Amino acid sequence: MKIIPLMEGAFSIDHTKRFVPFDVRHDDLQQRPVGSLLVEIQPFVVITDTDILLLDAGLGYRTRDGILQIQRNLSEAGINSMDVTKVLMSHLHKDHAGGIASKDPATGAYTLNFPSAEYYVQSRELAYALEKGAPSYIAEELHPLEGTDRVVLLDADEGTIGPSIRFKVTGGHSPFHQVFWIEEGGQTVFFGGDDAPQLSQMKNRFIAKYDYDGKKCMELRRQWWQEGGEKHWTFLFYHDVKYPIVQSGTNNS
Ligand SMILES: [Zn+2]
Repeated sequence: MKIIPLMEGAFSIDHTKRFVPFDVRHDDLQQRPVGSLLVEIQPFVVITDTDILLLDAGLGYRTRDGILQIQRNLSEAGINSMDVTKVLMSHLHKDHAGGIASKDPATGAYTLNFPSAEYYVQSRELAYALEKGAPSYIAEELHPLEGTDRVVLLDADEGTIGPSIRFKVTGGHSPFHQVFWIEEGGQTVFFGGDDAPQLSQMKNRFIAKYDYDGKKCMELRRQWWQEGGEKHWTFLFYHDVKYPIVQSGTNNS
């Protein structure tokens, strides 16, 4: 399998949950509102024998010339958006779901950004997101997921997608958050979304205030880090630009 991180950069986020671009070379977190956190954003492409998979869809921001960041990053990796076959969504918070669809400035209508792909979304997460809305979810960006045959609404607690992908609803970070394993040629790639967002959180016991159930997240991370170590999983970390891809058992300090 080939894995490509699609780094979108760093952002500060305060209680308004607005993501403000943050340049680590020039910006100072002390200059941002009190309590601001620094968050890195990084979806992944995984290329298997049969699929070009996108794991979460990024923040949905555009470059200065108006190109969607995730599409720019894909094309720099030599991938046309039209070639993505499956979009796997861990959950629908706006920093993961912003790249799902775009608004046509002329008509105001939203269209899916990866029209050839099937989107795999947990149905209960979608219902929860549409009900909850702002500030964590942006409902209008999620409406294009409804009523289209491009979207597969998963409703089981666990199952398979084709021969090589497994999913499981874990809750934790959001009530119906799900995680994915991609298995091919003896390799197991694990994408834990925001239940397992950063390498440092795998190694240190840590309860995050921003999780729906922080204690559960901490326990899941402990289990996965142990099981993944025994089974040699490759971990993908969405919020970790420094350690995006970690082969467990290797020594990343
Ligand atoms: Zn989230």
